[in-house]
Amino acid sequence: MTGRTTFNEVRELLFGDYEHKVSFVVAGSKGNTYNVDFIRRENNLTAFCDCRAGVSRVQCKHRVNLLLGDVTGLLEGHENLAKLKELFAGTDVEQAFIDFVYAEKQSRQFETKADAREYLAHFKHELTSAFND
Ligand SMILES: [Zn+2]
Repeated sequence: MTGRTTFNEVRELLFGDYEHKVSFVVAGSKGNTYNVDFIRRENNLTAFCDCRAGVSRVQCKHRVNLLLGDVTGLLEGHENLAKLKELFAGTDVEQAFIDFVYAEKQSRQFETKADAREYLAHFKHELTSAFND
């Protein structure tokens, strides 16, 4: 940390960002477990998952499923689902998510699967960026 320390930095040092973070543990398809964390700072939501895709900063279904309220494979954190909904509302991820879901609907009317995939790739990328920052 250089220069002047902001109030938020001091607060974070003293208290952490605990009240804006929720954590989950989900079961992977190969019997392994993954930790999924969501952290909100102002209107920015960041989602971490330690599965292979998540670590490579690629879209992974674990984060998306939790945001959709899909508790398939959820081992720990059921009590955090309501809090996650709160953290999600009004964030960059929510906007990207709405755009993606809408684009997915649109893409079903495309002539070929390749066209649909290409169209969706942009929205997928936007959503992934929102998750990762
Ligand atoms: Zn994952």
